[in-house]
Amino acid sequence: MATTTFTKKSLGLESTEPAVTPPTKGAQTNFAKKPKLGAGKSKKRDIPEGLWTKCPKCETMVFDKELDENLKVCPKCEFHFPISARERIHSLVETCTFEEMDAEMTSVDPLKFVDKTPYPKRVLDHQAATGLKDAVLTGLCKIGGHRVALGVMDFSFIAASLGSVVGEKLTRLIERATEKELPVIIISTSGGARMQEGMLSLMQMAKTSAALAYHAQSRLPYLSVLTHPTTAGVMASYASLGDLILAEPGAMIGFAGPRVIKDTTQAELPPDFQTAEFLLDHGLIDAIVPRKEMKQHFIEYLDFLNGQQKAAAAS
Ligand SMILES: [Zn+2]
Repeated sequence: MATTTFTKKSLGLESTEPAVTPPTKGAQTNFAKKPKLGAGKSKKRDIPEGLWTKCPKCETMVFDKELDENLKVCPKCEFHFPISARERIHSLVETCTFEEMDAEMTSVDPLKFVDKTPYPKRVLDHQAATGLKDAVLTGLCKIGGHRVALGVMDFSFIAASLGSVVGEKLTRLIERATEKELPVIIISTSGGARMQEGMLSLMQMAKTSAALAYHAQSRLPYLSVLTHPTTAGVMASYASLGDLILAEPGAMIGFAGPRVIKDTTQAELPPDFQTAEFLLDHGLIDAIVPRKEMKQHFIEYLDFLNGQQKAAAAS
């Protein structure tokens, strides 16, 4: 009995205390107790930061450690939270096999572009906040028994916008893969071209696509993975050029936003038309693969595609 009372009190659940307190010290004492009661309630609701995350889909509170161990996927409803490029690489490649390329490449500011902040400051701020030099990590690695050229984008760096660094790093990765006869895997996420680099940013679409065309001429496989969200210039170039195009469940995928499309085409748009599930139904992508199964799927696809390649070479 005493334990129950203690537990209730420690949780800030006691609600009868003012009633049982003898009103001997007058109204002031009772008045002073009210904020205390309120403070106890808010203490109960205060969740220590960095311990729990609320799932935006099913509203379950998920323990952060559990979320990390589950590759940032809600254990209850399978909602896919954003995941950093480094965490993703860690979840996919064999231990200690990732050899990063062009790790120090950073943007210059050819247009002297200033919006709310000067572009060089924006880049430095994001570098400090994310520990990344730009919005993509590239390198050679092993996934299962396959040697692979892997590029992974990170939305937390200026919305993973496609600037000169992203374009150049991916182009070098693809060219290295062509030279070494390796498959390419690019895991995309992006808000589009990096407006602070203007035309130079748009040119990255052609450059990466051309590098992929040479890679394809060598009959080497390219797997493109679309994660939430993959849009605009990235979707309109290398992300949609995969021999196999995969997506994570629930990913938003598209070119322009729904309002722009509606205004331009004057057409009524179907609901959820920019989701991975809708695009799978309409043939734009080949498969939706949950994050936890991604590595195994890569291995199976590469087994198959490399087998096809060898068969083609033999015939
Ligand atoms: Zn959930």
